[in-house]
Amino acid sequence: MIIEVDINSGFCFGVVEAVRKAEETLQQQEQLYCLGDIVHNDAEVKRLAQKGLITINYDQYFTMKDATVLLRAHGEPPSTYDYARKHNIKLIDATCPVVLKLQNRIHTVHESDKHQNSQVVIFGKKGHAEVNGLVGQTDGKAIVIENPSQLDSIDFTRPIELYSQTTKDLEGFFQLAAEMKVRATAAPLKIHDTVCRQVANRIPAIRKFSARFELIIFVSGLKSSNGKMLFDICKSVNSNTKFISLIEEIDKQWFKDVGSVGICGATSTPKNLLMEVAETIRQLNP
Ligand code: SF4
Repeated sequence: MIIEVDINSGFCFGVVEAVRKAEETLQQQEQLYCLGDIVHNDAEVKRLAQKGLITINYDQYFTMKDATVLLRAHGEPPSTYDYARKHNIKLIDATCPVVLKLQNRIHTVHESDKHQNSQVVIFGKKGHAEVNGLVGQTDGKAIVIENPSQLDSIDFTRPIELYSQTTKDLEGFFQLAAEMKVRATAAPLKIHDTVCRQVANRIPAIRKFSARFELIIFVSGLKSSNGKMLFDICKSVNSNTKFISLIEEIDKQWFKDVGSVGICGATSTPKNLLMEVAETIRQLNP
């Protein structure tokens, strides 16, 4: 049986850097708090927990003081930094530079448009950590749109600045922008394509990869937005695509009469997990 791991899968540079900062800090101290899962991948969260990384939620964070906390690649709203300043919390800021730049752009446009009655619209997932960080740049005023059926929440008689969560798909973003253009006849609509190419560029590559094998094993955490999107793409190209989060979910029956298996994953899936999946499959099918 041919078993191949997709060379384009694995952590994006934003996640690589966040994990590097966590490991570097844990070499100097025994424990480090991380606000939310460092990456949407249970296996990686578990690996770092064994090294001393303690994942905390927002309720826990907002009761802490005199501690060191890592901020993950998704970024945070200003309220997280304000709290740290007032409660002697040292932040290790691993916000991805791409997200940071987007936060700054949204903050700047919100501040400059304050008196011009315009609306910041973000194409993204409501409640997602990155989106919360972006909405925080507008004092909570940005409108989050998940799909075109939610466009009625926008006032098309007022100017609009449209941005995207970095991990959304380009196609979905441009479809939404096209529908908004049709409606925005009374006021200007500025479209800012802020989809991260670390994700977008994987789409054509993963399409080609999925077509080359009889079976695709897609590895991702259940909470990963780009994991869900990339899995759907694999499945649309190769209907024999299986989703797993953990190695234990591999089913021996899947490999019956299969000659080739491709293994791929999200930008939050560690490469070593993909290699372990490959090795497990090899052992099941000597
Ligand atoms: S997907 Fe892009 S924006 Fe998001 S963390 Fe990775 S590199 Fe940064």
